[in-house]
Amino acid sequence: MRKGIAFIVSGPSGGGKTTLAKSMLHELDNLRFSVSCTTRKPREGEVDGKDYKFITEAEFEKMVQEKRFIEHAFVHGHYYGTPVEEFEDAEKSGVDLLLDIDVQGASQIKKSCPEAIFCFVMPPTFEILRERLSQRKGHGDIDIDKRLTRAKEEMAPAILEEYDFIIINDQLDEALKTIHSIIISTRCQSKRVLERIKDNF
Ligand code: 5GP
Repeated sequence: MRKGIAFIVSGPSGGGKTTLAKSMLHELDNLRFSVSCTTRKPREGEVDGKDYKFITEAEFEKMVQEKRFIEHAFVHGHYYGTPVEEFEDAEKSGVDLLLDIDVQGASQIKKSCPEAIFCFVMPPTFEILRERLSQRKGHGDIDIDKRLTRAKEEMAPAILEEYDFIIINDQLDEALKTIHSIIISTRCQSKRVLERIKDNF
C-alpha cells in the first residue's frame, strides 16, 4: 500500500494557514485533517472530534506522560498536541495527512519525522499581519502585540530554513494555487511514485 505523506502547514497566527489548510481538505482527495487535542474551549461552531478533541489539562498531561503525542506545545495560553494515532491511522490507510500546527510543534516533528513536507505560511509584511489580527474577533490590543512579538520570533531565518516551502500569503487565490501545486507535485515525486507502482510493471 502507498505510504501516506504528512504535510505540515505552520506559521504565525494570522498568516492564513488555517484558511489554506481547510481549502485543500475540501479540494483534494486522499487528504485527511490531523485532529489535534487541545485544552482550549470550543469556539462557536466547532465540533468535538472534528475540529479538535477538546480535553482537560489533566487529560492532556496524562497523554503527555503516556507519550501519546507526536508533538505538543503551549500556544497562546492553551495546550495543543498531535496524537500519535493520527499518524498511525493515516499510515495504515495510505492517506496523506495535513497538520495545521504552530512553529514549535513543526520543529518537533522535523526531528521525529524529517520526511514530512514542511510548509510555512507567512504574511507579506508585519503591517499586514497586524491588520489581519486586528480584524479577527476577540483579540484585544495586548493580545495582538503578543502575537506580533511571537510572530517576529517565529519568522526568524533559522526557523524558516527548516521548511521545504514558504508561502507568502499576499493574495489568497495565489497562495491557494501554490499550496495546491506543492501537494500535487510532492505526490508526483519519482521516489514516491516508483514505490507505489513497483508491482505494476
Ligand atoms: P486555534 O486555537 O486558533 O485553533 O489555534 C491556535 C494555534 O495552535 C494555531 O497556530 C494552530 O495552528 C496551533 N495548533 C493547532 N493544533 C496544534 C497542535 O496539535 N500542535 C501544535 N503545536 N499547535 C497546534
